[in-house]
Amino acid sequence: MIRTSVRLIAAAALGGLVHTGVSSADDSCERVEYVMGTMLRVTVTATSRADACTAVDSAFAVVHRLDSLLSNYRPDSDISRLAQRAPEPVTVAPIVFDFIQETLTWAHASGGVLNPAIGPVVELWGFYGEAPSRPEPAALKERAALCDLAGIELDSATAQVRLRQGMQFDPGATGKGFALRAADWSVARITGTRTILFDFGGQIYYRGDSVADHAVLHPRGDSALASVVRFAHGSLATSGDYERYFEQDGIRYAHILDPRTAQPVQGRAAVTVFARDPFVADALSTALFVLGPEEGAALLDRYPGSSALFAEWAGDSIRFVTAGRWDTLETR
Ligand code: ADP
Ligand code: MG
Repeated sequence: MIRTSVRLIAAAALGGLVHTGVSSADDSCERVEYVMGTMLRVTVTATSRADACTAVDSAFAVVHRLDSLLSNYRPDSDISRLAQRAPEPVTVAPIVFDFIQETLTWAHASGGVLNPAIGPVVELWGFYGEAPSRPEPAALKERAALCDLAGIELDSATAQVRLRQGMQFDPGATGKGFALRAADWSVARITGTRTILFDFGGQIYYRGDSVADHAVLHPRGDSALASVVRFAHGSLATSGDYERYFEQDGIRYAHILDPRTAQPVQGRAAVTVFARDPFVADALSTALFVLGPEEGAALLDRYPGSSALFAEWAGDSIRFVTAGRWDTLETR
């Protein structure tokens, strides 16, 4: 097993994932760019280096295009226009409509713990900015009332989406997984591609002609491993308490919120989900981070082939709990 590029995305991948497969150098192409608020590394192996680089170009073109449509940090994106124009209906690009619809399907399937309408609450906690802090309970209660999934209306005949006044759509929990899937389809069009590896701020997507080992970093160790899993096709997505967080009165408040309480989830350092589809892995990692291993087991069972590794706080130490088929993927 060879560890590659561990430090390349060290900041983004801390506690995330590090791929450890090997590919031959002469027919592969690799590039790293900042997109969707994090680093994306794309590595493609093909029958020629030219084909591999064409594939890498096409992957970045897709992800940059989706960033311009889905970002809630760009005022001119379709997603931002929904909030700006609410309660007016907004015509969005077909791919944005699909993204919203699929995210909502998962939100309902999760019983609402995955909630893309959580934007106003995330904003009040300050997690969109540089200085998050604990909000006033009265203000939080007001904002929580705006996080209602029923306030998102879709009209598939016109590709229009309407939010209730004051609502915001947060693409954070599913945007990267959606972009990975779209990028994979775009790469698959190009003849001669053999293996593709995406590392998107810690979310891995790999498709190859043979199995490769993929390392899951420990959520608190600089380069310690929590697990190593082996697969030929699939994605590993991690939701954790270490990327965006603050501490107040000795309590850590991180960026994934429980929509039932409008409070950051406590007691969990990370959840890594394996699923073949990168969108599914991304959606499940956020939902399972909120639910935890006991409540989350039923949700995971409904998606055969998906598995999870939970890093649970037990006092000051971390206890790992596996679910689904994780044990069969694990090589150590
Ligand atoms: P990351 O963005 O680090 O990969 P996630 O995929 O879990 O992690 O997405 C977390 C982001 O999703 C948060 O930064 C926030 O913008 C948004 N979010 C927080 N809590 C929820 C929730 N319960 N449901 C949906 N989105 C959420
Ligand atoms: Mg997610």
